[in-house]
Amino acid sequence: MPPFVFPAPATPTLPVLGDAAAFPVRRILCVGRNYAAHRREMGGDDREPPFFFSKPADAVVSGMKVPFPSRTEELHHEVELVIALGAGGEAVSADQALSLVFGYATGVDLTRRDLQTAAKAKGQPWDAAKGFDASAPISPIRRWSGPPPTGAIRLWVNDALKQEGEMADMIWGVAEIIAEASSLWRLAAGDLIFTGTPEGVGPLGIGDRVRGEIERVGDVAFTIGERR
Ligand code: MN
Repeated sequence: MPPFVFPAPATPTLPVLGDAAAFPVRRILCVGRNYAAHRREMGGDDREPPFFFSKPADAVVSGMKVPFPSRTEELHHEVELVIALGAGGEAVSADQALSLVFGYATGVDLTRRDLQTAAKAKGQPWDAAKGFDASAPISPIRRWSGPPPTGAIRLWVNDALKQEGEMADMIWGVAEIIAEASSLWRLAAGDLIFTGTPEGVGPLGIGDRVRGEIERVGDVAFTIGERR
């Protein structure tokens, strides 16, 4: 292999609970409209199945401060279960899908809602609305085997409860999400999949303290910093 023309960018990583070694992030896929009540609050059609979009791997943040992004007046929170893959594959069946799972984390799919609304109206892609820098704050990953987490998922802003749901209400469950994704992309160790948000999404401002929690999985907590 020839030398690089400049030093290779660092691999984004997330901490793993109880482990000195970090999880290297390869890709971030996200499921849209995976809870019926959220699909309704976004004006979605009840008959339309969930779908995928993506964020760049270097959108992950595991620190306590997330800058308010540029070019938006409507930054929204979406708390989500995040699947972390420890193995990959293509055309994986739902029966085999859980064997790819390394663990789970609690993430927030930060969204420039105003840019998303404009993109939807124009039939344009969502990258600027969803895939911006520091748009994926995520808790440490909890190693997991067996049936996926089933508990409550919640998000607070400045100690006020804003989002509350049950992962049992997901339209596509974890195994189905992995199987669907593997029919579209070759999955690999290091991939993260945001699994969609329950109802109650809403705005964040500079100085807001955000905390997302999934029972038995973990907490993600951060403060919205100055505009970048
Ligand atoms: Mn989302």
